[in-house]
Amino acid sequence: MSEDHDASGHAEIRNAVRALCSGFSDDYWGELDRRNAYPGDFVDALTGAGFLAALIPETYGGSGLSLAAAAAIMEEIQLSGCNGAACHAQMYIMGVLLRHGSDEQKSRYLPKIASGELRLQAFGVTEPESGTDTASLRTTARRDGDRYVVQGQKIWTSRAEHSDLMVVLARTASADEETKRTDGLSVLLLDMREAPGLTIRPIRTMMNHATTEVFFDGVEIPAENLIGEEGKGFRYILSGLNAERILIGAECIGDARWFIDKAVAYAAERVVFGRPIGQNQGIQFPIARAYAETEAAALMVAKAAQAFDAGDPCGAEANMAKMLAADASWHAADMCVQTHGGFGFAEEYGIERKFRETRLYQVAPISTNLILSYIAEHVLGLPRSY
Ligand SMILES: Cc1cc2nc3c(=O)[nH]c(=O)nc-3n(C[C@H](O)[C@H](O)[C@H](O)COP(=O)(O)OP(=O)(O)OC[C@H]3O[C@@H](n4cnc5c(N)ncnc54)[C@H](O)[C@@H]3O)c2cc1C
Repeated sequence: MSEDHDASGHAEIRNAVRALCSGFSDDYWGELDRRNAYPGDFVDALTGAGFLAALIPETYGGSGLSLAAAAAIMEEIQLSGCNGAACHAQMYIMGVLLRHGSDEQKSRYLPKIASGELRLQAFGVTEPESGTDTASLRTTARRDGDRYVVQGQKIWTSRAEHSDLMVVLARTASADEETKRTDGLSVLLLDMREAPGLTIRPIRTMMNHATTEVFFDGVEIPAENLIGEEGKGFRYILSGLNAERILIGAECIGDARWFIDKAVAYAAERVVFGRPIGQNQGIQFPIARAYAETEAAALMVAKAAQAFDAGDPCGAEANMAKMLAADASWHAADMCVQTHGGFGFAEEYGIERKFRETRLYQVAPISTNLILSYIAEHVLGLPRSY
């Protein structure tokens, strides 16, 4: 069935990603999952093949591909049973540097990010107290001569232990000095390889995600690592969210298709009461529903990517794409476990692992409720609810 998934084109890229992913079996992922270990070989292979540099312009050593092509890469990784969450951020976090960094910063960092010499896949936004309410974050970056001194804490900073650089959003002016709560936040690029005062603690989660909490105790960042203008960081972060949502949406489509493929194959082969379980409508219909839901969500992901690539406003499409695709993958996951009966729970089948992994996308990088709020307020014109 996966041959038919190429509605958005990019057949060559998809084939290349699929070939690479075929070297990383369910057993590989299952074994890492049990040890809660990072898929370093997989990430190195993707980096070496240039896939994670898809969105970096050719002038900086990347392949300068469209977001639609990058989405095809992420979808194909998930469809192959792999987990792009280990490194998807290497693809898109650099966007804040690309859009708002100085020429000097771009020339210094982007070529090394493109080659994989530097990993920029840690994004320090969420804090224990602020959660979804980003503007209430408390980590401060105080200017002291030619550097900023950072004090505070982040949580859920994924891949921090497997990244050289981190994009940090911190408060450089207190909220009351500013007219808007969202002003006074700044984006800084922290080199974690030389950062006394930085402590990273892994958080064990229900899936293998390499996420952490990060403590800043007087961590110094050279002032030249400020991205864009001081105080405007909130809008710089916002400007990158559409790309992130569309790419995560594509990953969810890949997951959903993986679950559907597994369910179809099992339903055809598993014989109970003398006939394949797939002959029963009670088994067929949930699979067919998951398929329809996934195809509809895939169209929204493609529409959002197309709008993004055309430079059109795409906030509504990106949000809807992420929500619908996350719903499609979660429903397909549940259906797949049900179709497999008891075997859906056996580690050996890989389904319970994927089930745990895809559940995340109802909450991160933005929760479903907040997407619904966005649609209600910004698309339908209803009063702001928070
Ligand atoms: C595994 C994992 C990896 C992550 N990786 C990163 C990362 O790399 N970098 C990073 O910065 N963050 C990361 N996050 C954080 C993630 O973006 C947040 O968990 C998410 O935005 C929700 O924030 P919260 O957990 O504080 O929930 P809260 O903001 O506390 O919300 C809790 C619940 O209440 C709901 N809610 C809150 N306010 C409203 C409202 N006004 N109306 C309706 N419902 C509401 C939310 O939808 C949610 O369901 C990660 C999270 C996880 C779990």
